[in-house]
Amino acid sequence: MTDWYAAGLEHIWLPYTQMKTVTPPLAVASTQGTRIRLSDGRELIDGIASWWTACHGYNHPHIRAAVQTQVERLPHVMFGGLVHEQALTLARRLAQILPGDLDRVFFSDSGSVSVEIAMKMAIQYFLNKGERGRSKFVSFRHGYHGDTIGTMAVCDPDEGMHSLFTGLLPEQWVVDLPDTPEKLAALEAFFQTNGERVAGILVEPLVQGAGGMKMHGAKVLRHLRRIADAHGTLLIFDEIFVGFGRTGTMFACEAAGLVPDIVTLSKALTGGTMALAATIATKRVFDAFWDDRPSAALMHGPTYMGNALACAAANASLDLFENEPRLIQVSAIEAHLAHALPACRDLPGVVDVRVKGAIGVVELAAIGDLNALKRAFVAEGVWVRPFGNIVYLTPAFTATEEDLATLTGAVHKVLSARV
Ligand SMILES: *Cc1c(COP(=O)(O)O)cnc(C)c1O
Repeated sequence: MTDWYAAGLEHIWLPYTQMKTVTPPLAVASTQGTRIRLSDGRELIDGIASWWTACHGYNHPHIRAAVQTQVERLPHVMFGGLVHEQALTLARRLAQILPGDLDRVFFSDSGSVSVEIAMKMAIQYFLNKGERGRSKFVSFRHGYHGDTIGTMAVCDPDEGMHSLFTGLLPEQWVVDLPDTPEKLAALEAFFQTNGERVAGILVEPLVQGAGGMKMHGAKVLRHLRRIADAHGTLLIFDEIFVGFGRTGTMFACEAAGLVPDIVTLSKALTGGTMALAATIATKRVFDAFWDDRPSAALMHGPTYMGNALACAAANASLDLFENEPRLIQVSAIEAHLAHALPACRDLPGVVDVRVKGAIGVVELAAIGDLNALKRAFVAEGVWVRPFGNIVYLTPAFTATEEDLATLTGAVHKVLSARV
């Protein structure tokens, strides 16, 4: 293995990484279930399911078989003027399992792009209806919606990932989530003044992921629905992290009992096997594009949209949600995390422990040496990636009790040993 590793490392550029001082990345030879097998023979239990994607564990035979069949038949065709069974079946199935009339699916290939598309949809929705001046988005502190130029502007501006680019970005309104009466009043006042300029309210429902794993109640989302309706703007749920069972219901919007106008999905859509994303609109949004004017069409079209291999993987992933007890597994994980993680509350520097669905978070006052912490987890035989000031677990839903005990035990042990 050393040949490809050393020779290739000279040429690779890693994400969010200072390449000069990088801790050498671990070489992975293979994956199976909740395990990442390293080229040096070590095996790690994945505590974060490869950035929340591998919800069924790695190499699930059903997804693998679906992709193998598809690769022989039709790996990919352009989606302009051509369609195929996997994409149309996936669109129909997503429409079926999403609540309300969220039933028009636009495919793309990454989460960031699906959010960009949602934003373009919202802007063009109002233009098509002849309503001028709605060009702004309201999003929330601690939010994360992607790394592209348009989505950086709706991320938390102070979380550090994108602050360098401030001058370049279109200015959006990033405000506090209305999770107290004072913040709700502030948001309502904001909308009294600016509501007519807002094309959409963009939120990660229930749990804000990459911006700090902050959690809020369903009530907050109902306030947003009400405010959006009162001011004639669209409500966009970015369910890229929380979608597909992560918070306990298939989609987080179900827990709030409401239907957003646009939803974005990606991460677990293909069960962690392929790049695929979807932006799904309600009938009302789609109808604004249903017109005799060609210029009223949605102006977007990624080259690899509706990729047949990715759609086959996603259809197979949905089969697994139908045929295996995923949501029951999520509630068992929630129970395990809620039982095991609170022991971390008494450790030095821990300021909060919180759990929602298959998400467990230990927040610290400050992390200190982040790289030392990452190495300590590897030494414990687990793959856990703290960021900011949090250590979190988002395991595969198929993780066993034993896996979970190892993961929560490692979190407790590593945080106990922290100096
Ligand atoms: C990961 C993520 C994105 C961006 O998805 P990419 O595929 O990395 O572009 C957007 N929104 C949320 C909520 C995410 O978790």
